[in-house]
Amino acid sequence: MSSSDLILLHAPSVYDFRGQSILYGPVSDLVPSTPVFEMYPIGFTTIAEYLERHGLRVRIVNLAVRMLEEPNYDVERQISKLSAALFGIDLHWLPHAHGSIEVARVVKRLHPRTPILFGGFSSTYFYLDLIGRPEVDFVMRGDSTEGPTLELTQYISSGGAMHPSPSSAEARRLAAIPNLVWRDSENQPHANPLTYSPENLDDILLDYTYVLKAVVRYRDLASFIPFRAWMRYPITAALSVRGCRYNCTTCGGSACAFAKLHGRKKPAFRKPEDLANDIRRIGRFSPGPIFILGDIRQAGDAYAERFLDAISGYKKPVFLELFDATPPGFFKKVARALPHFTVEISLESHDDDVRRMFGRPYTTAAIEKSIDDALDAGCRRLDLFFMTGLRGQTYESVMGTVDYSGRLLARYGARGESRVIPFISPLAPFVDPGSRAFEEPERYGYRLFCRTLEEHRQALLAPSWKYVLNYETEWMSRDQIVASTYEAGRRLNLLKAEYGVIDAAVAQATDKRIAKAVALSQEIDGVVAIADPDERRARLRALKPQVDTANLSTVCDKRELEVPLKHAGVDFVQAAHVVAQEWWKGLTKESARSA
Ligand code: SF4
Repeated sequence: MSSSDLILLHAPSVYDFRGQSILYGPVSDLVPSTPVFEMYPIGFTTIAEYLERHGLRVRIVNLAVRMLEEPNYDVERQISKLSAALFGIDLHWLPHAHGSIEVARVVKRLHPRTPILFGGFSSTYFYLDLIGRPEVDFVMRGDSTEGPTLELTQYISSGGAMHPSPSSAEARRLAAIPNLVWRDSENQPHANPLTYSPENLDDILLDYTYVLKAVVRYRDLASFIPFRAWMRYPITAALSVRGCRYNCTTCGGSACAFAKLHGRKKPAFRKPEDLANDIRRIGRFSPGPIFILGDIRQAGDAYAERFLDAISGYKKPVFLELFDATPPGFFKKVARALPHFTVEISLESHDDDVRRMFGRPYTTAAIEKSIDDALDAGCRRLDLFFMTGLRGQTYESVMGTVDYSGRLLARYGARGESRVIPFISPLAPFVDPGSRAFEEPERYGYRLFCRTLEEHRQALLAPSWKYVLNYETEWMSRDQIVASTYEAGRRLNLLKAEYGVIDAAVAQATDKRIAKAVALSQEIDGVVAIADPDERRARLRALKPQVDTANLSTVCDKRELEVPLKHAGVDFVQAAHVVAQEWWKGLTKESARSA
């Protein structure tokens, strides 16, 4: 098997999830991943493309998706067969705190001489914990690590020592790599200054052509798949920004968190014309929708207009996020440029005060005007996301949000509309490290049960999501957060069926799943109270078959989030054509250089 300079491994949330009995609850109902969080971060693709562009070989192995898809998939056997100068493991969002470290242990046991690099937001936050672990050799801090990761990989690939003597030239080379955390031969940790924080995204490329080429090179499509359902519903992301102007209380991607963790003073935007090119490039091989991460108006109206001019005429489905109410006429421009657009709005609550306390700047009245404008302009669908577990939110307030959703459904239903679709899910499993609520929980009305990396790792092994939550609020206990989530999901599901947004059969199936999840959750509460650990374990093991069937699409059917596609799945003939074109371009460039 051909060797790589860097192999990027993506672990499941809980390493041995196939043997554990854990009721994950609705933690991933509204994202493409299952509760195993098998989707690898976008940084895998940008880092891989960047290193390949600089002549290195990078492979992605999504262990989580392989473990989900193949019950007998042997992780250790797969890892033992891999060959790389450096292994990279993401610990980006904290739900990977368990799986990522367990995978690192396996890699270290099977490849003791190959260094292991950690990266991602949570790695940046917990870099001192990580560098103190024997299975972690390097941590790369920051939100943009393509450049420093290239430098480190070149250093390792050229034979540089993993833990050099403190006075050696190699130690000086490592000390010069920005954002890097490393250990010397005397086991002393060194955290280089966090100085690599590019002001824009001009130098990165979210180019999935890299993935296509790597699939062919390594003859391994299964390990590159971003999430389980991707082959059926190939939704892809395009990146408009790193950073954010807003400060939602619990968000690890907020302005405060970016400043604290990554030293980022303002968001780094992708040039609007480059963003449009990224989307067109994806559209060459994928019929699936493209989700633009970040509100295209965050960088100002001029940015949004330049982007819409550049993308004008793109006919495939595109999802746009709104972080604020829109000015008049905005959606008309969107519709002219992107005739197949869908809008995603995180309203959080029907209550203006609760929403404002969370950090969203708009009122219900203002956003309703935007919703009307979007529908009038021809928006294909408009998803509204509400959340449980917010600051200032009581059980009654959550039910008020469901009542409000019912009023919206009635209002749009009366116009023959079924394009406005509300969803509700919990803030789960964790308040993000670096967010305002994590840093100053009392000030924001949160009580945290976990602070350290190890506490979060252990929490992930709890038998139901109620015990995994790392918080409760002044306004709702963990029990109330769980109860309000299930009840809100149940009521909203019935309302959606009543107003024809979902089929009666789908609603009935969801209703049954919620009832089953509630019963299981209560049964697990009883098991947790058993004093004898052996009996407790045996009772949990006995529940596993039922728990496994209750773990997907709890409060809504995941497929409710999908837009209908003309053609399902990736166009492999077109993908092969794209790969051939890219190779040809590479070859002609090479021969021009050597001529
Ligand atoms: S949740 Fe709020 S702070 Fe976080 S990325 Fe979205 S808009 Fe920004």
